[in-house]
Amino acid sequence: MQLSLLTEVTDRQRLFDSTSAKEIAAYAASGGTIHCAKGCGGCCTLAVNCTAPEALLIGNSLDKPQLERLDRYIQRLKAKLSSAIDLKSYLRIHRKELGGCPFLEESSCTVYDSRPLSCRSLLSTKESHWCSADFSELSREEKQSFMESLDRSHVAFPMHYLAATQNLAQEMENQLAMVMMQESGLAIYGSMPVLVYLFAECNLAGAIADGVDAVRAFAALTGFDNPFTLQVETL
Ligand code: SF4
Repeated sequence: MQLSLLTEVTDRQRLFDSTSAKEIAAYAASGGTIHCAKGCGGCCTLAVNCTAPEALLIGNSLDKPQLERLDRYIQRLKAKLSSAIDLKSYLRIHRKELGGCPFLEESSCTVYDSRPLSCRSLLSTKESHWCSADFSELSREEKQSFMESLDRSHVAFPMHYLAATQNLAQEMENQLAMVMMQESGLAIYGSMPVLVYLFAECNLAGAIADGVDAVRAFAALTGFDNPFTLQVETL
């Protein structure tokens, strides 16, 4: 993958952050509050996805302790993947069994400057405990009350995160996939920690240079030929 692709990522991250600041200001002007703050890692126990170029950017920035932490996380994830029989169980494993994102330390993001668009886009319109709540454990009345409390004109209903930033992140992820497709003839999307690991520790970039069949073989060899962890698109 060309280094110019990394510039495509950082340019979009900068644009995202400035646009996001305007969205937060507009939401505040309408009477809303964004509750995200330093030291809150509630949403970092979700399954986080990103595009391959975003993962490459993070992979290039990691030091040895971060890589060791990532390696341990990947071993835990691999051990659990066989029990992820559907999306619901895959998401639940992240929430309940993996201990949060491998880049989260003492409730702070250690890759904050290069974190992916999906992380940047999660801006909570509700208090932080809702970001780590397991909705499957709530009663029907509690769920109903939560949903009635949401500002449907601003959130990505039925979630409590701001819709405008989620839509913008989706649009920019599509653009990055398109740029990668034009450059490599394929685009990769999937689990952020898995993609970072495959770039940093297994030479995913080499497989991409060898084409789509090499990428599919690489995914099988590394144990990540699983639609929840790695998706490959071609023209
Ligand atoms: S990359 Fe950072 S912001 Fe994103 S889930 Fe991990 S710790 Fe949280």
